[in-house]
Amino acid sequence: MTKFSDLALDPRVLKAVQEAGYETPTPIQAQAIPHALEGKDVLGIAQTGTGKTASFTLPMITLLGKGRARARMPRSLVLAPTRELAAQVAENFDTYAKHTKLTKALLIGGVSFGEQDKLIDRGVDVLIATPGRLLDHFERGKLLLQGVQIMVVDEADRMLDMGFIPDIERIFSLTPFTRQTFFYSATMAPEIERITNTFLQNAVKIEVARQNSTSTNIEQALVQVTPSRKDRSFAEKRNVLRDLIRKEGESCTNAIIFCNRKMDVDVVAKSLKSHGFNAGAIHGDLDQRQRTATLDEFREGSLQLLVASDVAARGLDVPSVSHVFNFDVPTHPEDYVHRIGRTGRAGRKGKAFTLATPSDEKYVAAIESLVGQPIPKAETPAQPTPTEEPVAVAEPAPRAPRNRSSRRREERAVDAPAPAAPAKDGPVVGLGDHVPDFLLRSFALPPRVEESTDEE
Ligand code: AMP
Repeated sequence: MTKFSDLALDPRVLKAVQEAGYETPTPIQAQAIPHALEGKDVLGIAQTGTGKTASFTLPMITLLGKGRARARMPRSLVLAPTRELAAQVAENFDTYAKHTKLTKALLIGGVSFGEQDKLIDRGVDVLIATPGRLLDHFERGKLLLQGVQIMVVDEADRMLDMGFIPDIERIFSLTPFTRQTFFYSATMAPEIERITNTFLQNAVKIEVARQNSTSTNIEQALVQVTPSRKDRSFAEKRNVLRDLIRKEGESCTNAIIFCNRKMDVDVVAKSLKSHGFNAGAIHGDLDQRQRTATLDEFREGSLQLLVASDVAARGLDVPSVSHVFNFDVPTHPEDYVHRIGRTGRAGRKGKAFTLATPSDEKYVAAIESLVGQPIPKAETPAQPTPTEEPVAVAEPAPRAPRNRSSRRREERAVDAPAPAAPAKDGPVVGLGDHVPDFLLRSFALPPRVEESTDEE
């Protein structure tokens, strides 16, 4: 088995790795680092959790050990699709470069340009950025990219999903042709393949896990929810979710709950909170400080349930998530693999529950065909009878063209205790012995129109 000391890394890097408590390189590290140190381009097909960040950071620090940063001309560039991922790479860099004098700057949206400009003006060895923010700086004339010797593209498939590929191509073309490139993607969509053929040269291809496979450490279950009425689906799923979390009891130490739409992320988090759960939300519309604070709480363990959208949660490194709940079945089957991959990491056991309504059938089928096996069906929980106090959970505003009172009726019917049924033998308080027929008559609500999934 390869040891870190076999990898020709800078001794200062080795010391930091040892202090981080890593004993042996992960497969992607063992395979990528020797090629990276030889100056070759690397194409890594790997997901978060495989140790891929260190597989490019450790050789980068070693290679940048010689030479000095020049004002406005970073020597290396790491591109990540989201602010959180960029911040995570920056944290990794701080850990592994702590015994060196290398400098870095993090260019992400939501942070003032002034501070970032100052760092760049002074000169940085490593610039870690989201593509949009990087181009903003470039266009303001504050940044020159012709000094870039090493460029990393992390999570390229997510860049593709988010429409960043034109930005990536532009950034590639602004950096010198002689640069060394490390390119990471969990899957190789044709568009990604095209980019790698265009911008990588004789790249060493390293694939660490079978594409689209799910870990055997994860116990998966498909929870079928059959709404009593279509327009009640959202509220009844919230009810089933609460029931599931309660049933998991203490074994659910921390969980990520995924929703397809960011407005549902807020509603689900608020609903959980109002039912006494320790929950927080993370999605692209929240300001950066809020996102960072929520994430920190979740990492520290003071927040138990993180309700998230795919983009916000993508690639986040939270080592010990006990559960993943898919509040919605993801419409892109690869997202299922990424979502449930948040649990069962580093050899631990994890559980992943997916709530599916009959209208999700085609998405479930797509997932099962992608992962090559059926998701085991959980014993369908009976639609739980609500017993909690009423809660005011606002529905996402543009969800459906229905009126306020029907929404209130739905909330009351599901999130709140069932209204006292007229007693058959006893008197009904406030109405004397007689309940007028019109109060006992059932009525139909117009069906709720579901919207399509939104993107971050
Ligand atoms: P990544 O795939 O880069 O997001 O890394 C996932 C997690 O694995 C991070 O928490 C790293 O700190 C950790 N890690 C990276 N390399 C190693 C290693 N060689 N041994 C143990 N843990 C590691």
